[in-house]
Amino acid sequence: MNEEKLTSVLEDLGLQKLRSSNGNIMALCPFHSDRSRSWGISTEDRNHVWQCFAGCGSGTLAMLVARIKNIDVVEAIRWLERYDADVADLGSENDWFIPTFEESRTKKGEFSIPETALAVFSSSIHKSILKRGFSISFLRKFEVCTDSKLKRVVFPVRNTNGKLVGFVGRTWVKNATLRYYFYASFPKGQYLLGSHLPIDRKKPIHLVEGPVDYLRGHQAKLPNVLCSMGCTVTNAQLRLLLQTGCSDLVCLYDQDRAGQLAKRKLYEKLDGRMQLYDAPIPEGQDIGGMSSSAVQKVAKRAELYGLFV
Ligand SMILES: [Zn+2]
Repeated sequence: MNEEKLTSVLEDLGLQKLRSSNGNIMALCPFHSDRSRSWGISTEDRNHVWQCFAGCGSGTLAMLVARIKNIDVVEAIRWLERYDADVADLGSENDWFIPTFEESRTKKGEFSIPETALAVFSSSIHKSILKRGFSISFLRKFEVCTDSKLKRVVFPVRNTNGKLVGFVGRTWVKNATLRYYFYASFPKGQYLLGSHLPIDRKKPIHLVEGPVDYLRGHQAKLPNVLCSMGCTVTNAQLRLLLQTGCSDLVCLYDQDRAGQLAKRKLYEKLDGRMQLYDAPIPEGQDIGGMSSSAVQKVAKRAELYGLFV
C-alpha cells in the first residue's frame, strides 16, 4: 500500500509521533514506553516490514496488526482488507514466522503454533510432489501444502499430542542449495515427523530421513513410520523413540556415508534398549524415490544391525 494508506493504518492502530524518513515511517514503539521513535516501518517494502530498535521484535504489517489488536494473523489480514491492502502477500519466512514461533513457545519450552498459521500456505498441492506418485487425497491426509513464495512443498509437524509445532519445506527448485527449510529455525531435533499418529507397539518403528521418505513409508503401509528430518537422531528424538514402547527399530536411511555414520551413532545411542535393523536400500537411492512395493521388500529384508560392527 502507499505511504498515505500505511499512515492511516498506523494512526488507526494508535501509533504516535509518526514521521516519514527515507522510505520508512518512524514512530514511538507501541510495545515499550518509548520517547525517541525507536520504531520504524518500511513504506517501500511490499510487506511493510517493521522493527523496534530497542528489541521489541520485528515483523510484517499483518503481524503488527495481530500483535496490537491481539488477534491472529489471518484475522489481521481481514482487518487490513478495509484499507484495500495488498494483503495476499504475507511476507517471507523471516518476517512472518519467527515472532509467531517465539511467542508460541509454551512454558515447557516447547513450540506450539496456532493452527491458523497453516492458512499461510496454499492448500493446493504442487505437481512436483504429485509426480512422485502420491494421490491428492493421500497428501491431504498428511496435510501437505504449498508455499508458492518460497517454492516449497510444506509438511506440517505435530508433536505426540497432535499440536502443530513446525513446518518443513522441501524445495521443488532443481539443484537448490537448501533442499530443506525449517521455518523459523524450527527446532526439528526436538520432534519426529509422524509422532502424532498412533503407534502399534507390537510392530517395529520404521525410521526415515526425509519427509518424502515418510510419505513413501506410509504409502507402502509400513507400520510406525517416523521421520527424523535429517539423518541425525538427537537425544530428544531418541527419547521419543524409546517412549513409543516398541522393541524394534528398522532404519531406512540412505546407504551413503552420512547414512552409514548415522546408523552407527544410532546403534550406540540405543545401547541395546531397542533392536536396530538396517534395511538394505540400494546404493544411490532413497525410499522416497522407490516404489511402494520395493520399499515393502527392502523393509522386510532388514537385518539386525551390530552383528559385524
Ligand atoms: Zn519497542
